[in-house]
Amino acid sequence: MSSNVDHSKIPELEHRNFRNDDFWKEIPAWASVTRGEFADHKWQTKNSIRKVEQVKKVLGDRCSDELYQDILDGQKKAPMNIRITPYIFSLIDWSNPVNDPLRKQFLPLGSQFLPDHPMHMADSLNEDVDAPIPLLTHRYPDKVLFLPTTICPVYCSYCTRSRIIGGSTESIDKETYGANQKRWDDVFEYIMKNSRIEDVVISGGDSYMLTPKQIRYIGENLLKIPHIRRIRFATKGIAIFPMKVLTDDEWVEAMQDVMKLGRAFGKQVVIHTHFSSPKEITKWSQMAMDRLYTEGFTVRNQAVLQTGVNNHIDTMVLLTRQLSFMNIQPYYVYMHDMVPGCEHFRTSLKEGIELEKAVRGTTAGFNTPTFVCDLPGGGGKRNVSSYEYYDQENGISVWKAPNVKPGQIFFYYDPLHSLSKEAQDRWMNEKSRNEMIEAARKKVEDQSSLKPK
Ligand SMILES: *Cc1c(COP(=O)(O)O)cnc(C)c1O
Ligand code: SF4
Repeated sequence: MSSNVDHSKIPELEHRNFRNDDFWKEIPAWASVTRGEFADHKWQTKNSIRKVEQVKKVLGDRCSDELYQDILDGQKKAPMNIRITPYIFSLIDWSNPVNDPLRKQFLPLGSQFLPDHPMHMADSLNEDVDAPIPLLTHRYPDKVLFLPTTICPVYCSYCTRSRIIGGSTESIDKETYGANQKRWDDVFEYIMKNSRIEDVVISGGDSYMLTPKQIRYIGENLLKIPHIRRIRFATKGIAIFPMKVLTDDEWVEAMQDVMKLGRAFGKQVVIHTHFSSPKEITKWSQMAMDRLYTEGFTVRNQAVLQTGVNNHIDTMVLLTRQLSFMNIQPYYVYMHDMVPGCEHFRTSLKEGIELEKAVRGTTAGFNTPTFVCDLPGGGGKRNVSSYEYYDQENGISVWKAPNVKPGQIFFYYDPLHSLSKEAQDRWMNEKSRNEMIEAARKKVEDQSSLKPK
């Protein structure tokens, strides 16, 4: 991609247009579904697509045999099962599904997979290694990641936790788990005993899948720990299933009660969501955000940078502006983790850096996302430009994480499809591969011996 930003191509006010047509009526099986039915969270859950056969059933002859075969083939290779809300399913452009950013994220085609990078890892971020007890990762001094559940309202084919989320697939056996109060109590006890912890990320899995009772249980138990100052509930829900915010009053009230309890204690309770493409945003998203915002919620967004989904300046600028317009703060854009089955999604680090440069300056600074690389091996999140050394020819960046793992060196690797043919050949040979990595390591070790400690 080019680094010359052509501002004339970014329509200035496009981000204020929120799609509000009856788009689901384009799906043959839902042609007569009324707005009222479509708005109902129970209808959405009941009609979610969970099997390839259902794709064919709802699409009828809009699904060609070739496409169907490709989806079946995708299921053999994908690390994730299928689960798609009717909302997202009907936002897919079925006249061109192959290039559609939503189809890419939730309904992988066999023909689009690429062989994994030689350095890929199932637990790329060392979440299991940095876990002192089950369900909890404690990597940074004052914050922890708590995974109370491993189920979600949709399954993203690129999930960074594909090793545990969403049940076994044809290619992977998983230890997916649902809510388990006993194991949660152990987590609260660990946090209670570690008084440096101030911040808890409640992720998973997805907080949409927690019942109102479970939300209250987790929220109250965390907030009553004196040293806890901040908790965040992570849910992709607002992006892929805004109807729940609009019609599941009990769920919203439970979140609200926890948020108010936090406020009474002088503590923050916020929601982190996950929009990756402007195609996920409609009037429904805006209405859901209007409800959350009026009720006092702070919502932040974390997106993943993906080829063919959002690795384009116009797309990233539009996403940033549209999120801001809905009162969602664009917080992070992640380089894609090096997990299996995702090589076709990944981009080079250079692309991340170029996009960051293009987005910065297009809107308020506090609504400008930080582009980060969550270092494979558990070094934590680092700003994309803060590498120690970057061999662009071979796609090797070398990093340090002085506060997280002092003295250690970390590597991120660009996807092979972004490299020259010669570089790809070097990667295919184990000897030259090790030489390239060692040469990059040595550059950084030599640099550091010159610098004062
Ligand atoms: C991302 C993450 C956090 C939260 O990090 P922030 O930069 O504060 O958003 C906490 N723990 C782990 C293990 C994480 O991966
Ligand atoms: S919503 Fe999050 S945890 Fe669930 S499948 Fe998607 S990326 Fe994974």
